[in-house]
Amino acid sequence: MVIHDIVIIGGGLAGMRAAIEASRAGLDAAIVSKIYPVRSHSVAAQGGINAALKDTDSWENHAFDTVKGSDYLGDQDAIELLCKEAPFDIMELEKMGAIFSRDPEGRIAQRPFGGAGYPRTCYLADRTGHALLHVMYEQLVKHEVVLYDEWHVVKVVVEDGTARGVIALELSTGKLHRLHSKAVLIATGGYGRVFRTTTNALSSTGDGMGLALDAGAELMDMEFVQFHPTVLKRTGILMTEGCRGEGGYLLNSKGERFMSRYAPKVQELASRDVVSRAEQTEIEEGRGVDGCVLLDLRHLGADKINRKLPQIRSLAINFAGVDPVEKPIPVKPGAHYSMGGIRTDFDGATTVPGLYAAGECACVSVHGANRLGGNSLLEAIVFGRRAGIGVSNFSESNGLLPFPATALKEAAFEVADITKRDSGESPAALREEMAGVMEAHSGIFRDRTRLTDGLRKLRDIRERFKGVALTDRGDYYNNELLQVIELAQMLKISEAILLGAVEREESRGSHFRTDFPLRNDKDWMKHTLVSLKDGEMKLGYKAVTVTKFQPQERKY
Ligand SMILES: Cc1cc2nc3c(=O)[nH]c(=O)nc-3n(C[C@H](O)[C@H](O)[C@H](O)COP(=O)(O)OP(=O)(O)OC[C@H]3O[C@@H](n4cnc5c(N)ncnc54)[C@H](O)[C@@H]3O)c2cc1C
Repeated sequence: MVIHDIVIIGGGLAGMRAAIEASRAGLDAAIVSKIYPVRSHSVAAQGGINAALKDTDSWENHAFDTVKGSDYLGDQDAIELLCKEAPFDIMELEKMGAIFSRDPEGRIAQRPFGGAGYPRTCYLADRTGHALLHVMYEQLVKHEVVLYDEWHVVKVVVEDGTARGVIALELSTGKLHRLHSKAVLIATGGYGRVFRTTTNALSSTGDGMGLALDAGAELMDMEFVQFHPTVLKRTGILMTEGCRGEGGYLLNSKGERFMSRYAPKVQELASRDVVSRAEQTEIEEGRGVDGCVLLDLRHLGADKINRKLPQIRSLAINFAGVDPVEKPIPVKPGAHYSMGGIRTDFDGATTVPGLYAAGECACVSVHGANRLGGNSLLEAIVFGRRAGIGVSNFSESNGLLPFPATALKEAAFEVADITKRDSGESPAALREEMAGVMEAHSGIFRDRTRLTDGLRKLRDIRERFKGVALTDRGDYYNNELLQVIELAQMLKISEAILLGAVEREESRGSHFRTDFPLRNDKDWMKHTLVSLKDGEMKLGYKAVTVTKFQPQERKY
């Protein structure tokens, strides 16, 4: 058994940022990551990170845009913190060595982004996540943070209501290990892979949300799934919002810039939920092009595309066979981001003492019913830092409690229960089926019948999952076993999404109910909460915090 002050699950931006803070506090923090940390999905972030840096902008404007973008479901006190602290964090990133693109005066350049009333998205061309994650990794090395690479956490160990460490599977040996700690921080990113078409990495399977549920924590606002308007049809690869921020248009099969009908003022730069619904409507009403619409960048010219969107050009050539300098790129909406997640306070604390969460897996809540582009890298940094301080304070004032003697044996028994089955359904086929159900029943347009049918199908898959069998019984890098462990969590998360979506009888942000097409502030200015009681999911509610901005109709 190894012992650390703090165990952080996840080596993406949020986990790394938190680890640096723990290390600055003189604590021994370790990061456990199922993939090599610099391969975390944060590395794929393209468009940028928001902060009100200029005199002509203000954190209050940023906060208003975020509240409006959230369709008034984001907690305004949390949003104020995010926007107020953003400039400090950008400056700190720069001091750590992050390279940002520059404007002609040499200041950090900022581009327009969807739903924002001011160009406030800082970027490095279209590779912002890559730039930030690698800088953060250098800081980890500098602070001598201990890393357990390619260790997959299968359980957060909780005894008498307090988190005491984790059990992790070392992929290269197949061995289970105990990591004992005073506190645990979950920073495991999103769950995009529960859908078929997604921009998310293979590793974005939402493990941490499932681990948190099992540990007794609550999930919040799970029905809100962001569908990004511009992903490639076959692979789901993202074409950043920066394409539209730099002036790209969306066209239908008649060559019309159809967004002028849905968001007359800002057109392609409306918030993502609005643009995705518009595209889906065009496609369903027969004005699509082979199940897509067209993202036209040609008028930007080769020089600007090469300077500002070089990765987009190569991705479009390699994965869609289209050079955007010469032809428009066929795109459609795809699952992109988890607005909901593990309920935390501003310092990352969940409702379970000693258990913290930050980044995309957490719900503070700053995104409400729809996240603005550029706000989630920011959330990972601001609330990663804050959670790093929160979890450090907790572990400084609490001693190391005993690690339950049976925890390892129980985890080993659960793993053996999967590996020893002689025959059964294929886990890969079941995973495909789950993703198909989520796509068909919990997509951009929802209604009670579709959702309840989806829930029924999903519960059937959960039952059948108990009988899946592996074809690979090996110990070394048993990827099939890993996928089964991931699938167990994905099924839980999918059920939580559907439960919240059935319950919320209104349309708000990304959650659009064709049977309740209007927002209903009278009954639904509240968050949904999901917890596990005796293996069953229970729903609860929590009021939204409103400070300055009273709900208004959202128009773009
Ligand atoms: C293609 C793409 C582009 C994006 N572009 C932008 C953008 O331009 N601007 C913006 O603001 N946002 C963007 N986002 C969103 C943003 O990148 C993410 O929300 C953010 O980076 C998430 O960071 P994170 O640290 O929470 O998680 P991640 O970076 O996803 O890291 C998760 C970590 O958890 C680990 N992990 C997971 N499960 C386990 C387990 N069971 N055991 C051990 N380790 C585990 C993984 O190994 C990984 O290290 C984009 C997202 C995508 C998919």
